[in-house]
Amino acid sequence: MAEEVKQNAEVPTIVFFCRDCQHVISNPQKIGVKYEYKCGVCKGTDVAFGTRKSILDYFRLKEKDLIVKEVEPKAV
Ligand SMILES: [Zn+2]
Repeated sequence: MAEEVKQNAEVPTIVFFCRDCQHVISNPQKIGVKYEYKCGVCKGTDVAFGTRKSILDYFRLKEKDLIVKEVEPKAV
């Protein structure tokens, strides 16, 4: 019996995940013209991004791990 694939109307959300500090980050800084991002939490540049689902699968995360770490801009 063929399984029906449910058409989900959900729009894939792109999430950013820092491999350095293992956090999902909300507002990475884009570096230069390349698709490179800087983590606002640990300043690392090993930031992966993808759809919510692919990031969950790839890094074996749970939904609760997707809580975005908000970074408050610090006054210098
Ligand atoms: Zn980080």
